[in-house]
Amino acid sequence: MGPAERSVEEAEAVAAHRATAWTDGTIIEKDLPSPTTVRLRMHVARRDGHRPGQHYLIRLRAPDGYTAQRPYSLASDPDDPLLEFLVERQPDGEVSEFLADVAEVGDVLELRGPIGRWFTWDSGTPALCLVGGTGVVPAVAMARTARRLGRAELVRIAAMGRTPAQLPYAAELERLGATLAFTRHDTPERGAGPFTPEEIDPLLAGAETFFVCGSARFAAYAETLLLDLGVDPRSIRVERFGASTGDEVDPTS
Ligand SMILES: Cc1cc2nc3c(=O)[nH]c(=O)nc-3n(C[C@H](O)[C@H](O)[C@H](O)COP(=O)(O)OP(=O)(O)OC[C@H]3O[C@@H](n4cnc5c(N)ncnc54)[C@H](O)[C@@H]3O)c2cc1C
Repeated sequence: MGPAERSVEEAEAVAAHRATAWTDGTIIEKDLPSPTTVRLRMHVARRDGHRPGQHYLIRLRAPDGYTAQRPYSLASDPDDPLLEFLVERQPDGEVSEFLADVAEVGDVLELRGPIGRWFTWDSGTPALCLVGGTGVVPAVAMARTARRLGRAELVRIAAMGRTPAQLPYAAELERLGATLAFTRHDTPERGAGPFTPEEIDPLLAGAETFFVCGSARFAAYAETLLLDLGVDPRSIRVERFGASTGDEVDPTS
């Protein structure tokens, strides 16, 4: 029975199996959008569509069998024939340094996914993404999907980084009409510093789901900001990317 003939239950069972099975992904494109980030576009032979907001595990395997795996969000629209990842190189980072400095086009890496149900956009509900640093990645997937569907207005993004050069996808986010804040860079519209409640308040109108993503410290800041503005906590979905460098929220500003 082919995919077109599968019932919804069967299709879900197949997708669940693939999400728990490791598969090979080939690096088709690799570039370094900034000195500290790498963008990988990978081909996976057999995959089911993902939902915007989901992530994959990338596993590295040394010749002696030692393995290390980390989760990485997808930046790509589910219709994109390739999976796109944007990874920030962490100092002494076991996996991110390898992906940035060693991995090459043509290399095959082990992948498992797509993973994540809670932090996904359903492609129909008006949403606001409040994201910091590499936390922009799942928001980019949501915005690309909304644009393809001709419903760009459904996904609003407020993104924060240190400087335009250090914020992944800054140019694309600007084209998408995102509200941007830089903690260490003045723009004509605003001084340097984290988002203020006055900047976020006008973005709340009509939004039904709120996606917060970034370092633990950024997530705490953004979630508090939304709660202080009266957003229902049941409508807030948070994804934390790991150790906090504190870069996305400058406490001195
Ligand atoms: C659901 C999910 C999705 C994620 N998506 C992305 C993504 O799209 N892009 C991306 O770049 N990362 C993402 N991450 C973070 C990623 O999984 C790794 O934690 C990160 O790449 C560091 O792994 P590493 O092996 O290089 O560093 P490690 O060897 O694990 O750690 C090296 C050093 O870096 C510090 N460190 C680890 N992670 C971070 C971090 N996120 N920020 C600051 N310091 C850190 C550690 O404390 C340690 O000092 C995601 C995490 C989660 C949970």
